[in-house]
Amino acid sequence: MRRFRQADWEEPLIFELGREERVGFTVPSVEPEVSDAVGDIEELVPTNMLRSEPPMLPEVSEIEVLRHFIHLSQMNYGVNSGVFYPLGSCTMKYNPVINEVVAAHPKITEIHPDQDEATVQGVLGILYQLKRWFLEVTGMDDASLQPAAGAHGEFLGNLLIRAYHADRGEIDKRREIIVPDSAHGTNPASAMMAGFKTVEIPSGEDGCVDIEALRSVVGEHTAGLMLTNPNTLGIFERNISEIAEIVHGAGGLMYYDGANLNAIMGKCRPGDMGFDIVHVNLHKTFSTPHGGGGPGSGPVGVKSFLADYLPVPTVEEEDGVYRLDYDRPKTIGRIHGYHGNVSPILKAYAYTLALGGSGLKEASEIAVLNSNYIAHKLKDVRGLSLPYAPGVPRKHEAVLSASGMAEETGVRALDVAKGLLDRGIHAPTIYFPLIVPEALMIEPTETEPLEALDAFIEAVKEISDLAYSNPKEVLDAPRNTAVGRLDEARAAHPKTICLSWRAYCALAGRG
Ligand SMILES: *Cc1c(COP(=O)(O)O)cnc(C)c1O
Repeated sequence: MRRFRQADWEEPLIFELGREERVGFTVPSVEPEVSDAVGDIEELVPTNMLRSEPPMLPEVSEIEVLRHFIHLSQMNYGVNSGVFYPLGSCTMKYNPVINEVVAAHPKITEIHPDQDEATVQGVLGILYQLKRWFLEVTGMDDASLQPAAGAHGEFLGNLLIRAYHADRGEIDKRREIIVPDSAHGTNPASAMMAGFKTVEIPSGEDGCVDIEALRSVVGEHTAGLMLTNPNTLGIFERNISEIAEIVHGAGGLMYYDGANLNAIMGKCRPGDMGFDIVHVNLHKTFSTPHGGGGPGSGPVGVKSFLADYLPVPTVEEEDGVYRLDYDRPKTIGRIHGYHGNVSPILKAYAYTLALGGSGLKEASEIAVLNSNYIAHKLKDVRGLSLPYAPGVPRKHEAVLSASGMAEETGVRALDVAKGLLDRGIHAPTIYFPLIVPEALMIEPTETEPLEALDAFIEAVKEISDLAYSNPKEVLDAPRNTAVGRLDEARAAHPKTICLSWRAYCALAGRG
């Protein structure tokens, strides 16, 4: 049974439900013809592969299983079940349900990538069309749909940078990838995974790349620069053409982290800003539910001079017939089985088809409007501020700082986030980007109505008032959630995390 313990619900594990020898399923008996033909099943299994003792399984009835998992699913916070999901950088927009219908269509789910090309022309056509749209929106020349995520796209991008410099006999000296200090953590991580050293450059007071700092680090060791525009502060890098000129002038390549594309669709294109390689997180900008572990998709586009290095196969079209092309002698090889994760690609296809070019542009416009509305309303809330060029309009997201509140009341960004949970609102991203102390990174997206934005703004104001009148109450939050304040350090310590029933038993000193 569910137990109530002070402020916290203690969720039973499924192993703790039910009772010994209770079963929740019936296995149909083996038909006599079959058992006559094969004999005793156990005798067919080699003795060294037979279990010596029965597996440790939960002993529950069907209704107990159903209640348990439905309940767990209801404890989750979803874009379509919560109030507002302003998790900055992650673009938690609403994903139209029709996309799911398209992606789950049996004509797609029941085919196999090893089938003859002639029998899968429909899905190859979708992959090809999505690639064309992707190239048009980003301003690139060719693309691979294989990467399974943004970070995977970054990794591919870095491998392409490597292949390019290796081809020119320069890889031994070009070992450095430049990343601004506002970059997402995956940028330096993927550069390192591809064998590069990362060089960090600071942001200027305007929140943009410090041009002089960039000039001082580029040179013959430069392999490339990774940048997202607008950057993680939600500010558009005005000097992007100059940045590209500096990097190209030193012989380096420009990599675009497209996680922030939701701000600029139909407005401007990374390909026109001077970028040579681009990834886009289809699951963010092009509407696939994400945050639960996948599948995602991070297609990578390149300018034509890098097309020879792309992974194979790519989908091409000739006279209305789609085919898989393996003819890239300089390819870096495969980075995913078959064509990547096809279901998010189908969802992106349905989404793009529904919105069209003008719809994508409008989506970006509303996303930007919504984030400026919130930034404008929150920047004067007591204890909050909008660091870095407060007068400059934000793009799709805005990063506020709670450092004033932290100093004056002891209530930090983390506590504000917990206070929001109590009010039924998903917390924004906190403590990222690293260059903003006590950061609250808010990305409302275009799919939120005005009422949701206002409810969020009201909730933040309420928390601010409470911080200045009765800070303890904020510090004790959350009280209305399934679990109260977690011990962040303990929760991250490998010795205290038990992810298996066996480990749990050992820790709890049970049988
Ligand atoms: C989400 C994100 C990434 C990584 O993308 P994944 O699809 O999660 O791997 C990279 N950069 C930025 C700015 C992001 O927001």
